[in-house]
Amino acid sequence: MRAVNGLEQMRAVLSAALACGINHLETAPAYGPAEGFLGEALRLLAVPRPALVITSKLLPGVPLEQGQLQLRDCLARLGVKRLDNLAVHGLNLPEHLGWALGGEGSELLRWALGEGLVGQVGFSSHGDNDLIEAALASGRFGFCSLHLHLFDPQRLPLAQAALAAGLGVLAISPADKGGRLYDPPAELVGDCQPHHPLELAYRFLLAQGISSLSLGAAAPGDLDWAKRLAGAIEPLGASERAALEQLERRAAERLGAERCGQCRACLPCPNEVPIPELLRLRNLALGHGMGAFARERYNLIGRAGHWWETLNASACQRCGDCLPRCPHGLAIPDLLADTHARLVEAPRRRLWG
Ligand code: SF4
Ligand code: SF4
Repeated sequence: MRAVNGLEQMRAVLSAALACGINHLETAPAYGPAEGFLGEALRLLAVPRPALVITSKLLPGVPLEQGQLQLRDCLARLGVKRLDNLAVHGLNLPEHLGWALGGEGSELLRWALGEGLVGQVGFSSHGDNDLIEAALASGRFGFCSLHLHLFDPQRLPLAQAALAAGLGVLAISPADKGGRLYDPPAELVGDCQPHHPLELAYRFLLAQGISSLSLGAAAPGDLDWAKRLAGAIEPLGASERAALEQLERRAAERLGAERCGQCRACLPCPNEVPIPELLRLRNLALGHGMGAFARERYNLIGRAGHWWETLNASACQRCGDCLPRCPHGLAIPDLLADTHARLVEAPRRRLWG
């Protein structure tokens, strides 16, 4: 997804990935030229096909014939006869699930499996938990790619349930979407000592059985932690547990009585303000020094279609409905106004979802 500047960049990233034992490559036609570069790099490096698991994705909603063409183009770009995994790319809305289960998407997935062009079908989702739960319960999918992060663990129970049901689970971008942890702020580095924040984030997932992490490498150096942590799936050690407790404690100290506990009891808001998600960004900015990441995410709200929230804190009408529902007694409208004042800035470009 991030090696999009040319074949040489992709070749260097792929070569480094293979050298550190990575055997799962995930891409998509929606990542600009990435899929074509990956196919070329695979040919240049003469990687034996059986050594790899290859995943690509198709956006939902396309008519059957168009989807068939897209999948054949995808195979041609990658230079393979068959994908191990084909995901519905961004099963974010109920209509996407409807397309995959009963519409032309259903026919497309059935055709791809029947023709032997894909080994199994799955989905990636940025959608809400109810939608992900419904998709997992449908029995249609063999794997899922979810946002599972140390700093956003709310989907972990769904991931655990999926694993228990025998599905594959891939964590989307723990380094970047998980908090730009390749470039952590000083507070975060201090709070995670003696571990690196990215190391701790990866280990947090691996120790829970989330064994496929998408690393989003743009350069060989982005794979350094993958190299060091290859096979590190054992339970968290004492030092890691202590670092996680320290991280939590220091954030709680900085946030004081204004810490949002992320329980979601304040929902639903009659104006559809995504209160927990907005206050999570405030928690990150004030509790962990992650202001840059929080601002980046906040300013994508309303600018990324169904890939992210559509309303920011300025949508709060101060009706007060949420106030009695918060077990922490938070002054939610005031905190939302504070969140907006702290995080809003001029828009930036979004990179592929
Ligand atoms: S006070 Fe704001 S956030 Fe709370 S329910 Fe009303 S509009 Fe929603
Ligand atoms: S109810 Fe309170 S603590 Fe829970 S998510 Fe909402 S604002 Fe946060």
